[in-house]
Amino acid sequence: MKRSAIVIGSGFAGTAAATTLASKGYAVTLVEKNDEPGGRARVWRKDGFTFDMGPSWYWMPEVFERYFARFGETVRGRYDLVRLDPSYQVIFSESERWDIPAGVPALKRLFERIEAGAGGALDRFLAEARLKYDLGMSELVYRPALSWGEFIRPDVVGGMLKSTVFGSLRKHVAAHFKDPRLRMLLEFPVLFLGASPDNTPALYSLMNYADMALGTWYPMGGMGRIIEAMVHVARAQGVDVRTGLRVERVLVENGKAAGVRTPHGDLRADTVVAAADYHHVERDLLEPKNRSYSERYWDGRVMAPSSLLFYLGFNARLPGLLHHNLFFDASLDDHAREIYDDPQWPSRPLMYVSAPSKTDLSVAPAGHENIFALIPIAPGLHDTEDVRGHYRELVLDKLATRTGMDVRSHLVLERSYSINDFKSDYNAYRGNAYGLANTLRQTAVLKPSMKSRRVKGLYFAGQLTVPGPGVPPSLISGQVVADLIEKEHRA
Ligand SMILES: Cc1cc2nc3c(=O)[nH]c(=O)nc-3n(C[C@H](O)[C@H](O)[C@H](O)COP(=O)(O)OP(=O)(O)OC[C@H]3O[C@@H](n4cnc5c(N)ncnc54)[C@H](O)[C@@H]3O)c2cc1C
Repeated sequence: MKRSAIVIGSGFAGTAAATTLASKGYAVTLVEKNDEPGGRARVWRKDGFTFDMGPSWYWMPEVFERYFARFGETVRGRYDLVRLDPSYQVIFSESERWDIPAGVPALKRLFERIEAGAGGALDRFLAEARLKYDLGMSELVYRPALSWGEFIRPDVVGGMLKSTVFGSLRKHVAAHFKDPRLRMLLEFPVLFLGASPDNTPALYSLMNYADMALGTWYPMGGMGRIIEAMVHVARAQGVDVRTGLRVERVLVENGKAAGVRTPHGDLRADTVVAAADYHHVERDLLEPKNRSYSERYWDGRVMAPSSLLFYLGFNARLPGLLHHNLFFDASLDDHAREIYDDPQWPSRPLMYVSAPSKTDLSVAPAGHENIFALIPIAPGLHDTEDVRGHYRELVLDKLATRTGMDVRSHLVLERSYSINDFKSDYNAYRGNAYGLANTLRQTAVLKPSMKSRRVKGLYFAGQLTVPGPGVPPSLISGQVVADLIEKEHRA
């Protein structure tokens, strides 16, 4: 008899899990509460603007190639990918900004200009980062991490010993570079992992390899094109995609997953993959006796940050901005402290601004600019209109200074998005944006497990389980869980 599966949540993880299971012959229904698929990577379209609501950095292109290849597809067959050059700009102050060029040779020249010997140091740093990246991609991330035994193979352990893995990323960077701006540049990618550089294992310098050697890319039409392509492939594999349908309960009979309850009736299946936020599934969709983790366990987790976001449409082009802009005009340490150590609204926040209309005229009306501004914040903060209003002014002030324009008089569309929206739209625990932080104590086997400890046939995927937060890891998470399910069914 054909095996059946229900997947909860149509983010990268859920869509990847559903498609991979369908390609293995399962009858799959993908159930999404929101009206559009994509989860945190949904798109907001209004007045001729197309805003990517979540991710905007396309890194590790081979992860996407590998995904589509599973189904006989290619990235090129689904969307046009362009490499950005410069990759991004970093704004240190009103008078100092750097364009970060694409490709290692040009980067080495930049590093050498800033600090004598830093070009050679970058070569050494990236050679090691590449080892970690190769090891990570071939041996670590495509595993369900159910036991340490998966990683204890002589070749894996040997590879790990060769590189600095367990120390902090901050120390690792400091051992190579003195200039504080260069250090900041190398520490910034870990913000994607949702942890501070102090608290992130040096293993994750593999992110620097992804950034500097593999490059920053952009799918023309926006990040939403990836989701569109994935949903197309899901349907082609036979997945029944149902949006606007909320799961209210995971059905459990005699200790086994039996399907899900929705407002429109029960859907039955012998396997359930929960690719919605892990904590929501445990707390809201399962009875206490069927939960693997206690509320105390969740209280003890380090969550990745949430975000305060502004989607802004301007009726003029804004000079002085590139596609990706990092405003490092305040202290990363102070901001990180207000996220992790002493959670509060940031006093002098760093900010990231994306202007995809610099690359792609299709995401804004002619002569207009599409701007996405992101301020990382601690999860769980009290989110009010007043607070958002305060940061709105700050964002517009920074944009006015950078562009030399009265940006307020050109603002024709705006929307803010923060903790309350993450909770109501995605059932996000404490309104987190990027799931669980990748600290040493929350890596691999130490993350919430892909497999329920209490309910047979119930599995988890997404940014709160392995391998972690970010688009490529979520995409990998969905495939890994599907492979695990098939393996366990065959056993
Ligand atoms: C603002 C922002 C910027 C980011 N920037 C980047 C970036 O530039 N690059 C990068 O690589 N990563 C980035 N990330 C991280 C990345 O977007 C996420 O890690 C990834 O999209 C998570 O995918 P997921 O499938 O695990 O979860 P989600 O996308 O959250 O999917 C879970 C789905 O489950 C659904 N759901 C929840 N409850 C139910 C229910 N009861 N019934 C049915 N459905 C339910 C939700 O609606 C949602 O669609 C960013 C994230 C955010 C929020």
